[in-house]
Amino acid sequence: MSIKVVEVSKKYQNQVAVNSLSFEIKKGEIVGFLGPNGAGKSTLMKMLTGYVIPTNGALYICDELVVPTQKTTNKNIGYLPEHNPLYKEMYVKEYLSFIANIHKVSNSKIDEVIHQTGLTPEASKKIHQLSKGYQQRVGIAAAIIHNPSVLILDEPTTGLDPNQIIEIRQLIKDLGKDKTVLFSTHIMQEVEAVCDRVIIINKGDLKVDANLSELKSGQEQIIQVEFDFKIEEQFVKRIENLKSFDNYHDNKWEFTFNVQEDKRAAIFDFAQEQGLKILQMNTQNKTLESLFAEFTK
Ligand code: ADP
Repeated sequence: MSIKVVEVSKKYQNQVAVNSLSFEIKKGEIVGFLGPNGAGKSTLMKMLTGYVIPTNGALYICDELVVPTQKTTNKNIGYLPEHNPLYKEMYVKEYLSFIANIHKVSNSKIDEVIHQTGLTPEASKKIHQLSKGYQQRVGIAAAIIHNPSVLILDEPTTGLDPNQIIEIRQLIKDLGKDKTVLFSTHIMQEVEAVCDRVIIINKGDLKVDANLSELKSGQEQIIQVEFDFKIEEQFVKRIENLKSFDNYHDNKWEFTFNVQEDKRAAIFDFAQEQGLKILQMNTQNKTLESLFAEFTK
């Protein structure tokens, strides 16, 4: 297992930041770690990287226990902290050489990560001359220079413009081809764009740990219809795949389905069979965005 979190809690004085979280992430997965501000995402990531000591529980990276005082797990982890702290007066290559030295890896790795993170055109500049998106690439290059198998990225796209966001998401996907990636965000769309699995936390509690396909298949489709005449419930019940219905006003009905196919055509067919005309029809899907809102309200 690349990452294993077992009943981990963290209290800062009386403030519970993480409350008995458990999950496992297999080799090669890209997992979105989602939650509103203050949910406990950074705290959990800092515990995984050994910078914060858990109050309870145990964390493992590549089956090795994370021991905060020893740096034994560093070889397996690449970490991009929130706000990406960089020495901005340094040149890109100079900074990466400094990081390579800390990890005791050869300088030949520098050109490799520069290429891998798309930094080649900016490699000879000072970090402060770079756009925010390129600075983020420098942070990611520094995080992967020792070729860790697990990458922990804390809000890697926050503060970037829309084009930079797309580029960094693509870079995360590319890195995910041979690394396990856990990245935090407070944007559901980001998770949809980059990963197959999402872990949602709120106020330190685990709310969801699911594959996106599972979440999507559990989504409901709600169709509101107004017919020209009254219809009896016994006929309505004949509509296929109907999960529930509500006759909320005269000839107005609300039908709920939990299938992914668009059920509007089925409603048209039903109306025709019953000799009814449809005066109005609206459809709405519960998006992943609204699921997130539900889990974190
Ligand atoms: P997120 O990354 O999801 O925004 P954090 O892990 O930063 O959440 O914070 C979780 C909670 O723990 C928040 O209520 C925050 O105020 C609190 N917290 C985080 N770091 C500290 C700290 N060093 N001292 C005291 N409280 C903290």
